[in-house]
Amino acid sequence: MSKSRKIAVIGGGISGLTSALILARNGYRVTLVEKSPRLGQTMRGFSRQGVYFDTGLHYTGGLAEGGIVSRYLRYLGINGLDTAPFCRDGFDEIRFADTDLTVRLPVGCEAMGDALAARFPGQEKSIRAYIRAAKADFDSSSLLNFFFSFQDTPRELSPVSLSDYLKKLTDDAHLQAVLSVHSLLYGVSPHEIPFMQHAYVSASYFDSVHNFTGGGRALVEAMEQKLTELGVTVILGRAVKRLVCTDKKRLIALELDDAALLETDAAICTCHPAALADMGQDAFRPSYLERLRALEETSSAFMLFGIADKKPECLEGRNLFLCRDADISRAFTPGTKPDNGPFFVAACPQSGDPGGRAGIVVVGPGFFDDMRPWTDSTHGNRPESYKAFKALIMQRIENAVQELCPDLAAVNFVEGATPLTMRDFLHAPNGGLYGCKHTVNRFNPLPVTRISNLLLAGQSVIVPGLMGAMISAFLACGFLLGDSLHKDAACS
Ligand SMILES: Cc1cc2nc3c(=O)[nH]c(=O)nc-3n(C[C@H](O)[C@H](O)[C@H](O)COP(=O)(O)OP(=O)(O)OC[C@H]3O[C@@H](n4cnc5c(N)ncnc54)[C@H](O)[C@@H]3O)c2cc1C
Repeated sequence: MSKSRKIAVIGGGISGLTSALILARNGYRVTLVEKSPRLGQTMRGFSRQGVYFDTGLHYTGGLAEGGIVSRYLRYLGINGLDTAPFCRDGFDEIRFADTDLTVRLPVGCEAMGDALAARFPGQEKSIRAYIRAAKADFDSSSLLNFFFSFQDTPRELSPVSLSDYLKKLTDDAHLQAVLSVHSLLYGVSPHEIPFMQHAYVSASYFDSVHNFTGGGRALVEAMEQKLTELGVTVILGRAVKRLVCTDKKRLIALELDDAALLETDAAICTCHPAALADMGQDAFRPSYLERLRALEETSSAFMLFGIADKKPECLEGRNLFLCRDADISRAFTPGTKPDNGPFFVAACPQSGDPGGRAGIVVVGPGFFDDMRPWTDSTHGNRPESYKAFKALIMQRIENAVQELCPDLAAVNFVEGATPLTMRDFLHAPNGGLYGCKHTVNRFNPLPVTRISNLLLAGQSVIVPGLMGAMISAFLACGFLLGDSLHKDAACS
């Protein structure tokens, strides 16, 4: 396709921003359409009482020098962002209330193996086998590793679930829980997630763990600035309603929700597959629409946002997982009471807060079914019964978190979010945090579709997270730009 032609990018999350920048950098005329009033809604975070809260980014792998995210950012021309490493001796701390067990995960495979072996005597062989297998799956993915050659290590592609893999490895329920705790970061139960998919997320933290000093907001703002520099046209607060195609299944325009037509020579769609099905009703075959609609959503959550006068010691350079016991899968089991946990707790970067205050984020189990009485309501217009329910749940979660981690007793919780908030802010039909589930028995959408000039990117394609969203954008754009894109990005 000639570079002077027009391309539309649907969705202004990280994958849409990345796609738009790649294409604009390569000479295409790009228009980015985002349904929300601002770009990067998932990752941008928000402020209350002058304190910043990260929403869709608390930490990531791949940000060390030479890491995949660093290279991608450099390729996009985003160079000046400060990053802060997490503690090398424990970027995650996992606490179990039933046994008083506390486990820290250090950066580095060797160090992680040593630390876990010290905590779980007699399990060293299993622990090292897990780390080796996860690392091998991560390294042998051509998507995650620029320099992998398929001749290097042919891997067996078996769709074994994480929990089946762990059951064969060890009988220790707490060790199984530690090795599957990162399922909370992609929102699929250990019983459903393929081991390999789990490895793509969990092993991304083996080599390095960072966040941007200015949080997700700094990243989104840097990307916005680049869009302006590269002349990308941005349409905010309007959704794509319909894909307009010729009889020969070529996309010629996008119809927006105000009936305006945006003519285009090609498009990359990065939004939730359910939204793609809605806009593609006339364009796709019924079987494809059915497949898109059958994809299940990842788990939803209740979230609490609190302010601490000073960052609690326990969150200095690390995140916490607070578990009542070894049952991680309860986070994915409808009916679980929100105060049962497990909880993920993170401190947000506070560049510029003169008082040294810290924003604290708590994520706990939440299910869209519990929101059924209020699904017709919209943000800013919720009934009193919803507000009372939300206040009750938030109080219970606050009590539970402070019981499990007394160091958080001084945190003043000022804001909360429910699965309904997630639905409305993330534009996910059932409030799923991470798009559609990747499971052992379903195939997620591929970047190519039967409409030859429509490509797909986004967290539901490869894997959720900053890294997964960026990779999906590079993959989709690679279909337009050819192999040279990946070579150029690898050399960045
Ligand atoms: C609470 C939470 C914590 C997280 N923590 C981390 C973390 O610590 N580390 C990490 O790496 N990842 C984390 N993630 C995951 C990460 O934020 C996501 O995987 C990533 O932001 C997804 O980006 P995306 O562009 O694929 O999707 P999205 O951000 O969902 O972008 C898709 C965009 O499409 C728009 N859209 C939808 N329909 C239409 C339409 N019809 N027309 C136009 N636009 C439309 C939506 O408004 C949305 O902005 C977290 C996510 C959440 C929710």
